[in-house]
Amino acid sequence: MLSRYKTIVIGAGPAGLFCALNACTNRDDVLLLEKNGSPGRKLLLSGSGQCNFSRTGPISEFTGHYGGAANFVKPALLAFTNKDLCAFLENGGVKTFAREDGKLFPAGMRASDILALLLGRCAGKGVRMVFDSQVEAVSREEGGFTVTTGAAVFSSDYLVIATGGCSYPDTGSAGDGFDLAVSLGHTVTDITPSLTHITAEEPFPAGLAGISVKNPAISLHKADGRTISARGDVLFTGAGLSGPGILDLSRHIRDGDRLSVALTDKPAGEVEISLIAALQAGGKKAVRTIVKGLGIPERLADTVLEKAGIVPSRKGGEIGRTDRMKILGLVTAFPVKVAKKGGFNVAMATAGGVTRDEVNRKSMESRITPGLFFAGEVLDVDGDTGGYNIQWAFSSAVAAASGIRAGKH
Ligand SMILES: Cc1cc2nc3c(=O)[nH]c(=O)nc-3n(C[C@H](O)[C@H](O)[C@H](O)COP(=O)(O)OP(=O)(O)OC[C@H]3O[C@@H](n4cnc5c(N)ncnc54)[C@H](O)[C@@H]3O)c2cc1C
Repeated sequence: MLSRYKTIVIGAGPAGLFCALNACTNRDDVLLLEKNGSPGRKLLLSGSGQCNFSRTGPISEFTGHYGGAANFVKPALLAFTNKDLCAFLENGGVKTFAREDGKLFPAGMRASDILALLLGRCAGKGVRMVFDSQVEAVSREEGGFTVTTGAAVFSSDYLVIATGGCSYPDTGSAGDGFDLAVSLGHTVTDITPSLTHITAEEPFPAGLAGISVKNPAISLHKADGRTISARGDVLFTGAGLSGPGILDLSRHIRDGDRLSVALTDKPAGEVEISLIAALQAGGKKAVRTIVKGLGIPERLADTVLEKAGIVPSRKGGEIGRTDRMKILGLVTAFPVKVAKKGGFNVAMATAGGVTRDEVNRKSMESRITPGLFFAGEVLDVDGDTGGYNIQWAFSSAVAAASGIRAGKH
């Protein structure tokens, strides 16, 4: 096997594979090193094996779904959009399917179809892929990079770190890329699990498991006094909260934070007016029926009254202002203290990574070590649930490959 390449890519996830494919201009000018015995393990798990690879809609609307990274992700997303990704898949024989909620999948609902296309294209173009090859060290030398695996030493003009984040470490993305980046002069931000559930400090009544609230307002109250507001579906689990609204907020959540979750999607003012009217009109109705009438699932209505210390069979006419305010407070801002956020073993993404300011957002080239590029989740970019992360893997891969093809090293 050759030991010198124009480009070495570390990591055969979607970002590494697509970057290798796009950077390759001649047979054998790209070497792709993967620590596992097979590529794309996380990709194969994505979307429960169905791979929600992106979503429909204007790409300009994607940028707000990457936490604080909107400016950084914009050029790469605009240069390789959701439509471009669909076109790549369709041209390669992988038909695509848009679900009603806008999520895009391969029509066969198999992540393996996308992986097979990437592998076939890489092989066809002459990308050299070596598995069971964990990169242990990288260094910048005169004229390029030296890359050391357990079994061999390679060198290249360009180096791409596409090693993913830390979530689901059994898939191979265990944070190695952060150490490699640091060894080449970069800094890595604090990292924390993202797209994960929370366990509540006070267990919920067993009957709440499985109840979901459609698109309520959620507020996250941080220990430092900040409040972060969001909206999204919330699912009550046996031990805490999950659902897209919580998953998307989880990049900001830390153990010990407090959440308040509305139990209906209606604004607080509207709920108050409805509650006052319902209590006045339903003087003889049980308060339980009145609370349910606010559009709250029955078991949640019972929990609200239990927490408020109000007997559910009491009549609406007997509910005074104090009790009404207790009900209103719980319905519009149900309090949950976070005992624990789901860890990297269950989180679908990593918030944090290689510091964005140190990377050119158009080319993904390092501003610190020329010739070094990044792609995918190794960067401090994490998307909301619903296809944003895989779209980022592909878009950032194209940006890095274009940077390499335009490079002068
Ligand atoms: C259960 C689950 C479901 C998901 N579902 C979705 C979804 O439906 N839609 C969506 O958009 N996102 C989803 N994601 C997130 C998405 O899969 C990732 O964001 C995406 O795979 C990141 O791509 P990547 O190429 O940057 O990194 P990865 O896919 O993590 O690939 C990195 C590769 O680098 C290799 N590697 C690491 N270190 C080394 C080393 N030292 N030497 C050599 N190789 C190394 C790893 O083995 C791995 O193969 C999901 C994630 C999980 C865990």
